[in-house]
Amino acid sequence: MTTAAALSVNSLKKTFDGSVTSVDVTLEVREGEIISLVGPSGCGKTTTLRLIAGFEEPDSGQLRIFSEEMYSLSRLVAPEKRGIGMVFQDYALFPHLSVLDNVRYGVRDSDESWLELLDLLGIRSISERSVENLSGGEQQRVAIARALAARPRILLLDEPFSNIDAAQRMHIRQEIIAALRTLETTFIWVTHDQEEALLVADRVAFMIDGEIKQIDSPEHIYMYPETLEAAEFIGEGVAFSSEIRNDQITSIFGDLPISECTTENNRLEIDQSSSVILFVRPEQITVEPDEILVGSIVAGTVISRDYFGHSSLLTVQLDDKSLFKVRVTSRVEVSEGQRLNLGLREYPRAFAETVRV
Ligand code: ATP
Repeated sequence: MTTAAALSVNSLKKTFDGSVTSVDVTLEVREGEIISLVGPSGCGKTTTLRLIAGFEEPDSGQLRIFSEEMYSLSRLVAPEKRGIGMVFQDYALFPHLSVLDNVRYGVRDSDESWLELLDLLGIRSISERSVENLSGGEQQRVAIARALAARPRILLLDEPFSNIDAAQRMHIRQEIIAALRTLETTFIWVTHDQEEALLVADRVAFMIDGEIKQIDSPEHIYMYPETLEAAEFIGEGVAFSSEIRNDQITSIFGDLPISECTTENNRLEIDQSSSVILFVRPEQITVEPDEILVGSIVAGTVISRDYFGHSSLLTVQLDDKSLFKVRVTSRVEVSEGQRLNLGLREYPRAFAETVRV
């Protein structure tokens, strides 16, 4: 059974006077999906949400919500008629009202099922309090409950945890995500935090220069980014130049087949380049000989070690002076200045050199 498209955005364009970024979005979201929208600052994430919600009028394109046309050249539906909720970065709560009054603010009918949101989001015990004196995390829950109480068909969240300190964020985020997953609402979640994007989403949409360049499951976009920008934005890694010779990539880790280092979506571009950028994540490199499955060995010197308990992140300098990050388990004992042999556990990703901006 195929699920209905909750949202269908086709070449929705917006250019602001004086802004270098023009937004041009194409996106299809299935009912009940959680999409996280990520990308560098200023790439157009908030503008995309505002266009979908109707707070910003597009220049052209089409927008449908559950097959109903919300925007086209001949139609523009007002924000309040779109069935969309939005949670803003600053929460936009009514400071003089209680938690309860904030949450019930958007409720139109006598149905009291919205009261369940107080339990779902863990705010029933504070429901009589004024929102003024709540912590950032509590205000966040109230803002989400208020948006959900109006029963939106789609909820848009713009960096919902940006005002919560790092120590609290991990805990609050996991709790709220678990609660939201029990609902059948469709969510689009803007974040600049790549860890949050991978944690939250059914699919991650990577945006740059106003366009969504790749949309994939968290695992797929992390393992098979289609551009160097996506690789570098979503997770850690090191990029280094290599050559194409005799239909192979000749790299510091030996000869690698092009087909293993590319996906169908960036293979053509690579085939036409004589040099490529390889990108390798710290966990794709190993110092344990029996784990080297790909390419050849290269020697280097450990110049620093960051210890995280479960693992350590080494910075290793090769003899040509290039630096690589290597993640090792804590049972691997290494010290600064030590010589090591590095090898690849799996194929790195390759990108045409011209892709780099
Ligand atoms: P951030 O991660 O920093 O919040 P973003 O990806 O959400 O950034 P947007 O806020 O959508 O980016 O902005 C995209 C571009 O459009 C930026 O260059 C911004 O300055 C510009 N822009 C957004 N709104 C307006 C506006 N009302 N008038 C003029 N320019 C605007």
